[in-house]
This record gives sequence, structure tokens and C-alpha cells, in this order.
Amino acid sequence: MHFDILTLFPEMFTGPLSVSIIGKARERGLLSVDIWNIRDYAQNKHKTVDDTPYGGGAGMVLRPDVLVRAIEAVRGDSRTPVIYLSPQGRVFNQELAAELATMPRLILLSGHYEEIDERVREKWVDWELSIGDYVLTGGELPAMVVVDAVARLLPGVLGDESSSQTDSFQDGLLDYPQYTRPASFRNMEVPEVLLSGHHEKIRRFRLKEALRRTLLRRPDLLERRTLSKEERQLLEELVQEHSCEGRVNTNEPN
Ligand code: SAM
Repeated sequence: MHFDILTLFPEMFTGPLSVSIIGKARERGLLSVDIWNIRDYAQNKHKTVDDTPYGGGAGMVLRPDVLVRAIEAVRGDSRTPVIYLSPQGRVFNQELAAELATMPRLILLSGHYEEIDERVREKWVDWELSIGDYVLTGGELPAMVVVDAVARLLPGVLGDESSSQTDSFQDGLLDYPQYTRPASFRNMEVPEVLLSGHHEKIRRFRLKEALRRTLLRRPDLLERRTLSKEERQLLEELVQEHSCEGRVNTNEPN
């Protein structure tokens, strides 16, 4: 998969996209990223990329001529989708990450300052993605968030493919708790079942704990998920244990 990122601050990407799992995936050719400096597409001698908003008001607006020159140069004749990172976009989540991971190439446009010119949005942007209901100074961190979340879903990027399968949100539940050595730490013991070597008991324990986490922290996720018979049984036990009253419907789907 290939990402083209358009930004006014290419240097911001150096660290996060060069180290650890993403850096290794790039070295192994599982993922490629090109960073394009929007300023290189400014044509006047001062390389101006922004201007004051028509109608007045605070902040600077990124000029449409510069942005479109950059987008068209990077996209060429391809139909590669252009994603504008914006707090006004659809809120990015694991489902969207999985959808984007099926695409061969994406162009990510990072805004900055007050906004980009609306005409770019209307005609050159295919989708807008937000990374949450808060406002950042620029689209660089959001672009890195999208690349990271998408890249770890690409085949071969994670050492063990199965590890992303149990991640939070991947199957509509939060992940179960994890433990490692030492088995006893400051009088806190690892749950015995995890030391038993009994695969079926471990699987059921983990499923119940994933359901417990989700029930206590994100009951909204359970409401959207179709539960198996086993999950419904475990959830009923959990509702009793935590005396959660009627918050989650454990009935079979119609
Ligand atoms: N005036 C804009 C608004 O209220 O919608 C916010 C502009 S923000 C200061 C500058 C840039 O940061 C945006 O153009 C966008 O690229 C990026 N940005 C800020 N918050 C973001 C978020 N939550 N998700 C994605 N991009 C964001």
C-alpha cells in the first residue's frame, strides 16, 4: 500500500513513520510513504501558501491554487482518493481503518492554520476524516494516526497476524487483559487459568474478560454487536456479577 501525504511540515513525519513497526514495514517494502511539501507548489517568490479569509475574521486560509497544484501533481492521471484530515470529517475508527487497508493507494491532505479554501474541499477532496472531537493545530498528527492504524492491518506488518484480530474494536469488543512474567508481582498474582495450559479454559476466560471490559467501559459497543450464544451466557453471568441492570440486551437477535 502507498500513502502520499501533503503537508506544510514534512519534518514532522520523520520520526513516527521511520521507527518501530511502521519503519520496519517500510524497509521491508510492505508499505511506502511519500511526503510532499505543499510549499513547493507555491509559485510566487515568497512561496506564499496562505492568505487572509474573504469576509474577514481570524486566521489564515490555505490558497486553492497552491493546494490544487500539489494535489494534481501527486495524483497525476490516477483516480487515487484524496482524504482531507479535518475535525469536520467522519470520525475515524477501526472499521474505517480496515476499509482503507484494502486500498492500494491513498493521498492524505493535512490542513493547517484556520482552514483550507472551501473550493478544494468541494472538488478535489473525496473524503474527510477526523480523529476525534477536538481541534489540533494541523492535520499532520491525524495523518500519522491514519497511516499507523491502517498500516498495522496490512498483511505481514505485524509479526503475528493474529495479534490484530483480538485488538480492541477489531471484533466489536475491547481487548482482554494481558499478563507476563513474573507470575507473582508485589503480591499480585496472574489469574491461575492463564498458567494452566488449558487452551479451551483460557479462550473462555479471555472472552469473558473482553466482555467484562466492554460491559464496564464501553457498553455502547455491546449494543451494536450481535452476540453468540456463548457470549450471551457469559454476559448474563457478568451482569449478575456486576449487578448491571438492564443496560445491555442479552436476548437472542430476532
Ligand atoms: N477551523 C477549523 C474547524 O473549526 O473545523 C479547524 C482548523 S485546524 C486549527 C487546522 C487543521 O488541523 C485542519 O485543517 C485539519 O487539517 C487539522 N485538524 C485539526 N483537528 C483535527 C481533527 N480532530 N481531525 C483531523 N484533522 C484535524
